[in-house]
Amino acid sequence: MYPDSVSIANSLMTLMEKANSNQMTPIRLQGWFKVIEWQINGDSSFWKSDGSKLLVSEPKQADFRLKCSAETLTRIAEGKLPFFIALWGTGEVAFEGSFSDAYRLGYVFLSDLRKRRVIFISHCWLNINTRFPEGCAFEGANIPLVKTLLDSGLGIIQMPCPEYECLGLEKWRYGEIIKDDLRACFRKSAEVVFKQIKDYRALGFEIVGVLGMNPSPSCGVEIAKGKGTMLGTSRDTSEHPESGIFIEELQKLLINEGISDLRFFAIRRSLIGESDLEEKIEVLKSYIQV
Ligand code: SF4
Repeated sequence: MYPDSVSIANSLMTLMEKANSNQMTPIRLQGWFKVIEWQINGDSSFWKSDGSKLLVSEPKQADFRLKCSAETLTRIAEGKLPFFIALWGTGEVAFEGSFSDAYRLGYVFLSDLRKRRVIFISHCWLNINTRFPEGCAFEGANIPLVKTLLDSGLGIIQMPCPEYECLGLEKWRYGEIIKDDLRACFRKSAEVVFKQIKDYRALGFEIVGVLGMNPSPSCGVEIAKGKGTMLGTSRDTSEHPESGIFIEELQKLLINEGISDLRFFAIRRSLIGESDLEEKIEVLKSYIQV
């Protein structure tokens, strides 16, 4: 081998080892079985993906071809030029093949500061406007709660508000839609969340849990109040140790899918004049292990 060829081979090996040492690579290469040809200064080297890692390949018909100079390759291998930028931004790495393959391979080399931890939360923790007016001790969002979540490095996924979706923004349809029809409507909102939960789990994200709101008849987890009045089955407005309708529907979908290890927890909503917010935040911190 000429000195240039040695340095190209070393750079390609460095790059491949970097990719294969990333714990995300087996996930990112899932179902992707391709032959990649690198043309560096006109000479070809071959890689392949076996669906979980990158390997050196015999020369063969490539699905995807990358072309760049030895100098560009060295900068990429040394971490001075992100591969994704060279491929998608500056064009220092040219490619022949599909954009889909370019995207797939580009992702493998991305640096990633994300903790990949998320929490699903009831809609009105972030947007209090869906609550009944006196159930809102804040102007727009429960700032201490949201700040606690943000400070902990969690990604926040806001679930739909089922009462808004099914009863309207000011809940004018309360009592009009009852029993099975109301449950079916809530289930539609739960299905949106169910899909997201499956997507995040499939790609290895940690889901810290689903944060509901006690004692909502919809989003309560440990306590629900007035569920019967909402379903049209009773006039009892007292609290009961059970989950709200939306949480029940979401849990049913998860159980049917065999998902039984997802944590559900809730803290109590804050009403005007209540002064126990600090205690609630401490409870939240214990749930999310801050
Ligand atoms: S249904 Fe859930 S998200 Fe909507 S206002 Fe009630 S507790 Fe909040």
